[in-house]
Amino acid sequence: MAKLTFSGGIHPLGKKSATKDKPLVTIEAPELLYFPLSQHIGAPLKPLVSVGDKVLKMQKIADTDAFMSAPLHSSVSGKVKDIGMYLNHTNSKVPTIVIENDGEYQDAEPIHTKSIDDLSPDEMRKIIREAGIVGMGGAGFPTHVKLSPPEDKQITHLIINGAECEPYLTSDRRVMLEMPDDVIGGIRCLMRLLNLSKCYVGIEDNAPEAISILQEKTKNTGIDICVLKKKYPQGSEKQIINAITGKEVPIGKLPMDVGCVVINIGTVAEIYRALAQGIPLHRRIVTVSGDAVRNPSNLYVPLGTPFNALVDACGGTKEETHKIIMGGPMMGIAGISLDIPVVKGTSGLLLFSEKYAHNEAEINCIRCGRCVSVCPMKLVPTTLDMYSRKGDTETLIKNNIMNCMECGSCTYVCPSKRYLVQSIRVGKQKINALRAKEAKN
Ligand code: SF4
Ligand code: SF4
Repeated sequence: MAKLTFSGGIHPLGKKSATKDKPLVTIEAPELLYFPLSQHIGAPLKPLVSVGDKVLKMQKIADTDAFMSAPLHSSVSGKVKDIGMYLNHTNSKVPTIVIENDGEYQDAEPIHTKSIDDLSPDEMRKIIREAGIVGMGGAGFPTHVKLSPPEDKQITHLIINGAECEPYLTSDRRVMLEMPDDVIGGIRCLMRLLNLSKCYVGIEDNAPEAISILQEKTKNTGIDICVLKKKYPQGSEKQIINAITGKEVPIGKLPMDVGCVVINIGTVAEIYRALAQGIPLHRRIVTVSGDAVRNPSNLYVPLGTPFNALVDACGGTKEETHKIIMGGPMMGIAGISLDIPVVKGTSGLLLFSEKYAHNEAEINCIRCGRCVSVCPMKLVPTTLDMYSRKGDTETLIKNNIMNCMECGSCTYVCPSKRYLVQSIRVGKQKINALRAKEAKN
């Protein structure tokens, strides 16, 4: 079978052997759980509960009227202990609901009770929103928004993203191996919702067991399992669309502008549970790995659980931790504390010893061109770096800096150890700040 791919990209070491064959371990919820009201793209939420209220497991605890948002549900039953400012996954203190777990796990009513076969496309979209489902690959984009294209955007391709291209992470692989029926059930619902007879599931060739199990279960269903070459960043939306359909998403446009919707594989399984059983998103799989972790694992975790509890569930650390990364090592964010809780987009938690935590000093660019050859967005990272350091936002915009997806491939290959992605990120922040100022005036 031909293996599909995109142009550019890099081949970092996979580093998945520590967890790829480890079955999911469900961990107990701790005594206190933290639910930040900002954990997705879009409007922040407003609490629906007050301090002292009793809450049930899977009860909706925060919501907003904004379309571009998704509600939040408690992962335990208990009492609201506080609503205050606590750390979230961006290392910022944000409004957060703190719930004291009563250990009884009393469930709220399901979010709907209709038979899945009787749900209309509009009812499915409403349930997906009501279930609080957002992209679980890390982006946190509300899923019901992706599934509600404007009338002039005809969706022709539904792509399910099982390409877990970040080193270390194996949470999507465990979804495919341990929850294949939920994945396929969710895909069938989405095909009906979007009125499509075909769907494409992209999986990298380093996950042969996942490819086999899904191929076996999807024979003659219109679901096409597409084998992708292992390459980073194969799992980003524009690259998986290009590999599977040959289409290019133009600069500044969205997948729906080329008729595509891309949904993460773990998100699809959650969609099925919401539509079939009325269960809202209240837990997720997190890969805990890195050389400092004693027993790297794939954990099934109640949302709101602080990272400390995940590390304890892995037997603690065997080396002193010098670096915490939330997500994968390429696009993840360095964490400042293990008090930060698991949110909907937490795919991984990596702890590294001193050996892997140091940053090498950068030296002058030697004009080797490697960063240009690997950039999957066809940008010129060395030019963006230069103008970002000069603060020349006009030239940065002309050079399409906003199309940089911060994949880090350029930094990875640079022999001069230039902090390219960091510099580009600063340039983008300056442009966003200028635009926000202009919008206010
Ligand atoms: S410029 Fe941006 S998109 Fe291109 S390789 Fe660097 S980080 Fe990735
Ligand atoms: S890879 Fe590094 S040294 Fe080579 S051109 Fe790009 S910035 Fe310069």
